[in-house]
Amino acid sequence: MSEKINTVGMLYLSATPIGNLEDMTLRAIRILGEADLIAAEDTRHSRKLLAHFDIHTPLTSYHEHNKLEKGPELVEKMLNGAIIVCISDAGLPGISDPGAHLAMLAVEAGIKVSPLPGANAALSALICSGLDTTAFSFYGFLPKTGKKRRELLATLSDRAETLIFYESPHHLLGTLRDLSETLGDNRKAVAARELTKKFEEFHRSSLGELMGFYAENEPKGEFVILVEGCTRSEAQPQLPEEPLHLREMVEQLEKSGMGRKDAMREVAKKLGISRRDVYQEMLKFNP
Ligand code: SAM
Repeated sequence: MSEKINTVGMLYLSATPIGNLEDMTLRAIRILGEADLIAAEDTRHSRKLLAHFDIHTPLTSYHEHNKLEKGPELVEKMLNGAIIVCISDAGLPGISDPGAHLAMLAVEAGIKVSPLPGANAALSALICSGLDTTAFSFYGFLPKTGKKRRELLATLSDRAETLIFYESPHHLLGTLRDLSETLGDNRKAVAARELTKKFEEFHRSSLGELMGFYAENEPKGEFVILVEGCTRSEAQPQLPEEPLHLREMVEQLEKSGMGRKDAMREVAKKLGISRRDVYQEMLKFNP
């Protein structure tokens, strides 16, 4: 549905393609063409994209390093009636890219803020990952090194939802190694590479295997890393404090008609411990 562009100033945040130019939406093309000004992360980069779609709206730069001076200037223009579209180099502005601060300033100034939705690497990777999509946390780029990185990693191991990270090819291996150390080699993980581009690839495996693979094969291109959330059995890896509890569980299953071996296997699965541990605990009572 086409809407009439506002006559009072407003801010649009527009998606741009993450690799495939055909992912530019018709609505984004139209509004970018009708706006008074486009605030772009990198004007040289965006000029090429806009030229491709025959868009000739004036461009101004808006990025991490000038946002504190440029943001209020843009807000002033919008308060004076300008329609401004903010774009980043790829995907959604504000997602590991400039844009969020401008949206905040505009909201504070009572300016209407509206999305022009479209490509985004994290969600595109998530929906094709084969991992749970009902709950997920997006972390963008992990802090490169140091205390902040360690502190964040330490909070991840018990998270039950799918975890999503961005990473450059140069740091991919280090990040896989740290995730593996924190979450375990066996945790299911997916490396989504070069989405929407010619060499798009989903490597669905485990953190340990991905690490081995990229140690042998130099990572190339852009990556999203997705990791399965913590499962209940992982979250409770210790033996129950009260062994009787374990025995009762086995006995209950036996009463319901299950053979002892199957009952022990079932209890081991429920408690997230090995069958051998269950067997040894049972031996204490039935030597
Ligand atoms: N704003 C963008 C978005 O909405 O997805 C993210 C920009 S962030 C600066 C760039 C990172 O996003 C890359 O390092 C990579 O992790 C991820 N990314 C961007 N395009 C991608 C693609 N085509 N395939 C895989 N990952 C991509």
